[in-house]
Amino acid sequence: MRTYSCKTKEELQKEYDQVMSDYEKLKRRGLSLDISRGKPSRKQLDSVSELLTILQTPEDCFDDGIDTRNYGELSGLPSARAYWADVLGCKPEETFVGGSSSLNFMFDIISRAYSHGLLHSEKPWCKEEKVKFLCPSPGYDRHFRVAAFFGAELITIPMTPDGPDMDLVEEYVKDPTVKSIWCVPKYSNPDGIIYSQETIERFARLKPAAPDFVILWDNAYCIHEFDGEYVPFPDIISMCAAAGNPDMVFEFASTSKITFAGSGISVMAASKANIDYFTKILSVQMISYDKINQLRHVRFLQNKAHTIELMKKHAAIMAPKFHAVLDILDQEIQPLGFASYNRPKGGYFISLNTMPGTAKRALELCKQAGLTMTPAGATYPYGIDPNDSNIRIAPSLPPVEELREAMDVFCTCLKLAALEKLLAA
Ligand code: PLP
Repeated sequence: MRTYSCKTKEELQKEYDQVMSDYEKLKRRGLSLDISRGKPSRKQLDSVSELLTILQTPEDCFDDGIDTRNYGELSGLPSARAYWADVLGCKPEETFVGGSSSLNFMFDIISRAYSHGLLHSEKPWCKEEKVKFLCPSPGYDRHFRVAAFFGAELITIPMTPDGPDMDLVEEYVKDPTVKSIWCVPKYSNPDGIIYSQETIERFARLKPAAPDFVILWDNAYCIHEFDGEYVPFPDIISMCAAAGNPDMVFEFASTSKITFAGSGISVMAASKANIDYFTKILSVQMISYDKINQLRHVRFLQNKAHTIELMKKHAAIMAPKFHAVLDILDQEIQPLGFASYNRPKGGYFISLNTMPGTAKRALELCKQAGLTMTPAGATYPYGIDPNDSNIRIAPSLPPVEELREAMDVFCTCLKLAALEKLLAA
């Protein structure tokens, strides 16, 4: 197979006619497929459903003398704080364990920064003339939406194979209106990049002009390998403290992709001073999170080592799906030379860059053929990809057979959009 760039106009036209006829056939099949969001599959959920019956009697609901059915322990059940401290490598007093959503913690922190300010704010962010967020991109659309929701200006920071472009980050934080940065340090969404040790050290050593600059360290995929052994990660909380920036970072994680997405438990980790500050603020809006669920999780997950073992069950379900997607891309797309993609070993996504200027069109064609994908542009601030090239593939939810069908549609649409552009040139 020759790359599209080596083909003559006539050859491209012939290819277009063939791909268009394949596309019309696919459309006639009336498919309804969805690879848009990183949700665990039914099989994964079933594999951890022992969680549902782990607490059966009133006595089971006591944990170290604490009746989990009652109010109390706002910052989390001590055993749940100890569990997360073990997973993240920080201290239990540096954790706050909440409900099912870590995104909710992120939203809350930004919301409080705007309404009341963070620990070192001179004034609430809503009183600042300008607030800027650094957004490593491609990135997680919901991060960008939270910052935009509060009116922050979003600045795109390109990703490198080692994480965000740190030269740029160090330059931008000299601006006192730059208040925050979003980070997904392990298996970044969507690129699957693991930040290098040097990148993480440079984050810890940042010297921002804003006294209340905050790193939002979303470690959503911290133990989510599906290929190969567990990859250790450093404790960002103690690294920032050692670099003289103890209050500069909030770390987040949850069991959304370990147990039940939407019915798990989440954690935010930060310096003790930050945890104390936020516990005081959160006590105004909340008396107690769901400690029964926290206890269920502690009993089921036990500790980091046991959880990593359990993640192998997820891996056995996830790996064949990622391999199926990559095999099809290797066969159908790679030889044509107009697109590139990552080969992640963990996380939930494959990130593909197609011919610039054709991502939107390709996904429009997918939609018409019954395939829903994450919208083009979603991985960039304001939903605008300047190159109209990045597409996020989420292989986790459908069974492999359905995934193959979806990839058939996807590859056909990628080719069609690329051919349309080449023929119009
Ligand atoms: N952070 C990242 C990077 C994610 O990809 C996701 C979900 O896809 C979340 C957070 C959501 O986490 P939670 O379910 O804990 O709110």
